[in-house]
This record gives sequence, structure tokens and C-alpha cells, in this order.
Amino acid sequence: MIVTLTADAPVSTVNAILAAAAGAGCESRTFDDGHGGTVVGIVGEVSVNGLPGVSAVLEKHRPYMLASREGRPNAPSVVMVGGVRVGGGRPVVMGGPCVIESREALLAAAQAAKAAGADVLRGGAFKPRTSPYAFQGLGEEGLRYLAEAREMTGMPIVTEAMEPDHVELVARYADMIQIGSRNMANFPLLRRAGQSNTPVLLKRGFAATIEEWLMSAEYILAQGNPNVVLCERGIRSFDSATRFTLDLNAVPLVKELSHLPVIVDPSHGTGRRTLVGRMALAGLAAGADGLIIEAHPDPDSALCDGPQTITVDELATIIQTGRMLHAGLLAGSERDELARERAVVLH
Ligand code: PEP
Ligand code: MN
Repeated sequence: MIVTLTADAPVSTVNAILAAAAGAGCESRTFDDGHGGTVVGIVGEVSVNGLPGVSAVLEKHRPYMLASREGRPNAPSVVMVGGVRVGGGRPVVMGGPCVIESREALLAAAQAAKAAGADVLRGGAFKPRTSPYAFQGLGEEGLRYLAEAREMTGMPIVTEAMEPDHVELVARYADMIQIGSRNMANFPLLRRAGQSNTPVLLKRGFAATIEEWLMSAEYILAQGNPNVVLCERGIRSFDSATRFTLDLNAVPLVKELSHLPVIVDPSHGTGRRTLVGRMALAGLAAGADGLIIEAHPDPDSALCDGPQTITVDELATIIQTGRMLHAGLLAGSERDELARERAVVLH
């Protein structure tokens, strides 16, 4: 059950609810409603009758009670990655190569991504490759180059952890831990990421339902790490014309269901560099809080995912166009808001 308390509810009410839950053998958690009030999530049901400051009790709710908007419609939707705000306004762009190829290549790509206007640098040190014979990434050496690139450009970095034992190591170097599509349901990895304070980028499994994806986010939140950003990166459909099918329905739907920020990955979502620009803009139009895009100074020579990798000039164009599109969408929604207010007045 989810119990919402008013901002001025006495501490004794929270304590009484937590004690009742513990007494009934139920796990419970408190979280913020985004307005100074507290929400208590309980795995099970306890009586809160007569306690002062209880404003709502939801006995039926979605199974992902921490990731859900239920009980706290105005929950905070911002995750800080280094100094960059993800959610709640200006869309962020995470850009860089699929894989860290060498120190020189990464530093050059990082500088170019920065010049193109990217906010966060991406690049894999540990790579989940379909073939065991393909380049698997530079491991910790790659993480050191990422840290150097951050030093040089000031951009925070996001990079993947593939195993529970990678989490602490990656968190030592990176500002955000990526959990890849193939690992979305790696529960030991999710739990370990939940024990870290480092923000997590949780990519959707390419065969995962939206509910499974939000349940994976719940694993991280339930361990105490509230800083989860979701990433729609395409699902597998019957059609092999594109590598994956970017499910843009997921963006506004997840925004209805959850307060967690959502970004879109048009690189993996299409697998084709000619489609990346349009689908990036479509992601923003669908309401995404940002994008993650594979970009490289020389995409044809990229060691991983070259066919979906764009040039840094194309990245710059997407970022500029994306900013204009976002401003237009904002103006449009303010206009809609005004029109709605006027309609109410006229009624
Ligand atoms: C990546 O970002 O390079 C990657 C491997 O992504 P995904 O897990 O979405 O396939
Ligand atoms: Mn890739």
C-alpha cells in the first residue's frame, strides 16, 4: 500500500506507520512527494486509521510503488549527473563513441562532442558484444581515459557496468552507470547499482515490456538509489529492415506512469545512421528528457556500431535543431495551457 502524508504530518505518524509495518512483517520505505511531504510505501497492508496527517491511502497500486507516480503525482523528476540536470526542462544530450578505442581516439571524440554541444560524454569500457571474438572494450584502462576526457572537457561521463563487481569500479570513475539492454533483468547487477549513490541509466531490454522495465528500475530504487534515468533504445520486432524498432509510444506512456526521467537512444533504436537525426527529433517531440547518441569523428572507422554512428557535425546539427524544436514545443504547450485556461474562464 502507498500512504501519502501531508507536508505538516507529525513525525510520530511516520514512525507509527513504519512500526506497524515492521510489526506485521512488511517491508516499508519512505520517500519524498516532491513538495516537502512524505510518502510511505509498504509491501502489504497495515491500518493507518486515526493517524493525523494522512492525506491518502492507496491499497491497490502498480507493483513498482517507488517508480510509480501513484501517491505522489508531483514527485521530483530530476536526476543530477555531475552538474547536468536530467529531466524537468532543457533536454540533455549524451554523445560519444560506442566504445573507447584508445586514449587519443577518446580524447579527440570527447573534444568534438563537447564542441558539438553535448552535455555528457558516453563511451563503453566494458562492452556487451554478441560475439565473444569481437572487441570487448578496454576495461579499467578505458575508464581512466574517460576520467581524463572529463578533466579535459568538463563533461560528466556515462559508461556501462556489465557485472555486479563492475559497479564500484565504474562508480569510482564515472558520473553515471549505464545498465545495458542485455542486462536490464540482471537482478544482482540492479541490486548492486541500487546500493551505489551514482546515478543509473537503465536501458530498456529489447524484449522487455514497459512493466518489466519499470520493475527493473524498482530494484534499483528499492536498494536506496533514487537516481534512475530510463532509456528507450528500441525493441525487437518482426521486421529486420532496421536493427531494432524505437518504441516512441514508451516515452509519453512511461511519463504518465512514472516520475523518472526518460531519454531516447536513436542510434541503437534504428541501427542506421541515416535515421538517427529524424528519430532523435521524434524522441524529443514524444517528450523525452534527452538523447543518447553514438557519434565519432570518423564513423566508418569506428570499432563498434559504425553503421549507426553519426559524425560529430551531424551531432551538432541534431543538438541545434533539437533545441529549437524543444523551444517550439514549450511555446506550443504554453499556448495550449493558456487556451485551456481561457476555455475554463469562458465556460
Ligand atoms: C551501447 O550503449 O553501446 C549499448 C550496448 O546499448 P544497448 O545496451 O542499448 O544495446
Ligand atoms: Mn553501441
